[in-house]
Amino acid sequence: MIVCPSCGANLKFDPKSQKMLCDFCGSSFDPKEFDVKEDVEEQVVQEDNPETPDFDTIDVTIYTCPQCGGELMSVDENTAAAFCSFCGASTILSTRLAKGKKPEYIIPFAKTKEDCKKAYLGVVKKALFLPKEYRSDGCIDSFRGIYMPYWTYNVKQKGQTKLRGETSHRRGDYIITDIYTLAGKIDAEYDGLSFDASASFDDSMSEALAPYDIKQMVPFEASYMSGYYADLADVDADTYKYQAEKYAFNASLKRIKNETREFKKYTITTSKEAPKASKMADSAVPTSADNGHSAMFPVWFLSYRNGDRVAYAAVNGQTGKVVADLPIDVKKYLLSSGIFALVIFAILNMFLVLTPITALVMSSILTLIVFVINYFQRVDIRMTVTGEGDKGKEFLKENGKGKKKKAEKVEEAETGVFETVTTLLGLGSVAIAVLLVVFFQPVSDIPYYVMCIVEAVFFVLSFKHTLGNYNIMATRRLPQFDRKGGDDRA
Ligand SMILES: [Zn+2]
Ligand SMILES: [Zn+2]
Repeated sequence: MIVCPSCGANLKFDPKSQKMLCDFCGSSFDPKEFDVKEDVEEQVVQEDNPETPDFDTIDVTIYTCPQCGGELMSVDENTAAAFCSFCGASTILSTRLAKGKKPEYIIPFAKTKEDCKKAYLGVVKKALFLPKEYRSDGCIDSFRGIYMPYWTYNVKQKGQTKLRGETSHRRGDYIITDIYTLAGKIDAEYDGLSFDASASFDDSMSEALAPYDIKQMVPFEASYMSGYYADLADVDADTYKYQAEKYAFNASLKRIKNETREFKKYTITTSKEAPKASKMADSAVPTSADNGHSAMFPVWFLSYRNGDRVAYAAVNGQTGKVVADLPIDVKKYLLSSGIFALVIFAILNMFLVLTPITALVMSSILTLIVFVINYFQRVDIRMTVTGEGDKGKEFLKENGKGKKKKAEKVEEAETGVFETVTTLLGLGSVAIAVLLVVFFQPVSDIPYYVMCIVEAVFFVLSFKHTLGNYNIMATRRLPQFDRKGGDDRA
């Protein structure tokens, strides 16, 4: 806890003034005045712990959610936390004191909670079918200021570029291609390429929140964390090193191809594929990243729990950019689209006469379209539940910490057998409709209308699945963190 020198109350970092503010007596102080130096001596205690020898540490309170195991830390000892930001549970988080690794840098919060709420409301205002609870005061009040751990890399590109280029010209019946090695000097630097170092924070979310302006990054002081929480870094520095190099390699290659005047007349044929990590330094664009620096970036974070799903919203604490899961209110959506469909049908009916055959053909086509959409949604759901593509999660998996999920099982559980049955019966009804139109062609109108109604029922059922699937994709399953074995648990 950081104490006010004038009155002894708790000081908090204020994004607006970028000062430490005392709620009690109104004094304000420079955050840099509170550098806690005693940590260096306490390092002796840490010596039996081989994993943190060359880092300074800070005293933190670690809050653990009894339901999902999610953990946050803070430098304020007394704050009681009554809900979990990861799974949205309202529950008293258990606390314990610990020593946290001290990050090297931090971007202090620049947006206040009020700024964040305003930005969020601006986005959800446009989401017509968002369930109204997501806009409620109770919900948006649970926005919590969290510093997310990042690894930032500086990438240097210095030396000879070796590109392949060719020019072609026609001579008589021949096309003659000359191949060149295009050599040049490169001296480029990418500073602060950043990747989120927390496995509990989705890469997709952190990518969407980017960019952060690293020019405002300052050496870490615990005082910036006062009044906020921080997520714990659980991904190693080298997880993203190659990723940073690949980014710089591709960005420079693209610029060389498009912007270098001397190379313009050649078609550059160097493969776009970035070389392997070990070959980076000696590649067409010599690239090497440093070993990464730990940093904390500010995020306003909100979670909303609905049954066994949770939706997240996050606001970039520096720029105010909003990223939110936006599920829809299925009943509201069905009702509105039902009314919309009736209006369209009434208008159509005024201008053209629907024969029973065209009506059946149209309803068969619509029903098939919904089935196709459902199919692709299920493929998508399968990809997201397996966590493919999230580097942080992959890191945990490789290290045996993350839970491996079985794709098939999850898919069954989340989309249900009912959907499969409806799909099969619905496809059957479409098949009957086709037989009716192509082969049987009954004289009476009644069979056509009966099939229209049957298809309409399957259409509505499937459409409801489509909306349900949409909500599964727009929300997340409840997290389960498996952080056993960490040495900070002592
Ligand atoms: Zn005071
Ligand atoms: Zn939780």
